[in-house]
Amino acid sequence: MSIEIRNINKHFGNFQALNDVNLDIASGELLALLGPSGCGKTTLLRIIAGLETPDSGSIHFSGEDTTDVHVRERNVGFVFQHYALFRHMTVFENVAFGLRVKPRGERPSESQIRKKVHDLLGLVQLDWLADRYPSQLSGGQRQRIALARALAVEPKVLLLDEPFGALDAKVRKELRRWLRRLHDELHVTSIFVTHDQEEALEVSDRVVLMNQGQVEQVGTPQDVWDHPASPFVYGFLGDVNLFHGRAHEGLLHLDGVSVDAPEHAQVQDAKAFAYVRPHDLDVQRYQPGLSGIVAELQRAIVVGPIARLELLPVDAQSPDGHDPLIEAQISAERFRELGFKDGDKLVVSPKKARVFLQPV
Ligand code: ATP
Repeated sequence: MSIEIRNINKHFGNFQALNDVNLDIASGELLALLGPSGCGKTTLLRIIAGLETPDSGSIHFSGEDTTDVHVRERNVGFVFQHYALFRHMTVFENVAFGLRVKPRGERPSESQIRKKVHDLLGLVQLDWLADRYPSQLSGGQRQRIALARALAVEPKVLLLDEPFGALDAKVRKELRRWLRRLHDELHVTSIFVTHDQEEALEVSDRVVLMNQGQVEQVGTPQDVWDHPASPFVYGFLGDVNLFHGRAHEGLLHLDGVSVDAPEHAQVQDAKAFAYVRPHDLDVQRYQPGLSGIVAELQRAIVVGPIARLELLPVDAQSPDGHDPLIEAQISAERFRELGFKDGDKLVVSPKKARVFLQPV
């Protein structure tokens, strides 16, 4: 089932939660809705589900206008962050529930239900837990059961709202890989909401980046990572340092350093905002004549194989109030070789920058 979302607007009182959202989701796709808290991800998911009505715009399932179709008739399955399993029912009965409440005539026989539930529990690899109650399961197991329950009625669309949000980092990681494998087996058109960029990039076929009720960019994980459409997208996908400067005749003049302007910044004269990831900064001990931004090492944090350096430019200015601290990231091995100490004077220069320009 494909989904077409056309010009969706939604207000809550005076607040515009969604602003002219358009999106095409291919049949069998696994799509991530990614964005900061409050950007409208859940609202959009609820509108697709039929749990919320848009002010204007329309939702189509495989070309058919579904905007006014009741949630029960849309054939969607849900999984939410806070597992909504029935506490007084065993795992088996939780998964069987959607089948048992089907209208007479559509309801499978008891033996068909037993087979279906066992197949589903096998699919989520928890067959051995059929007789347990939700309180006797771990958080990760509950979410897998919630997914089995959502799949029982063979939904055409699966909607997942921060399904792993309440779990610890290790379980989250396992479950998102598992979700990807499960999706590859089932190919149900699926949309999942997350504010975790790593999760979105790792699991989905395409990522939709949302900001303040609008879609900022849609693309494959590789696309949005390599070609972010806006500073917002670049900043949201990972840590960045922001440098102000000017692009002029193929060179980029940043706060204290001139570098070759990347190809996408070949303009004659423009205000430049260079965004540099911490691992794209080169750090050397200060020597007169070295090209780069001279900065003092404030603090180094070594975690496993990585050293994160906090650096304060010697002539730090903060014209628009942004944090003047620069964060660089090098390997812990290189950090030890270089023998940097807090207070050392270093020179920082970008190896690679993503530049956004504003004509002057
Ligand atoms: P989070 O990641 O925190 O869940 P989100 O991106 O899913 O955020 P939404 O839940 O869609 O965001 O909310 C978008 C905005 O709309 C928020 O500012 C929220 O406060 C507001 N909002 C959502 N539902 C309602 C409601 N029923 N009444 C009033 N405002 C609402």
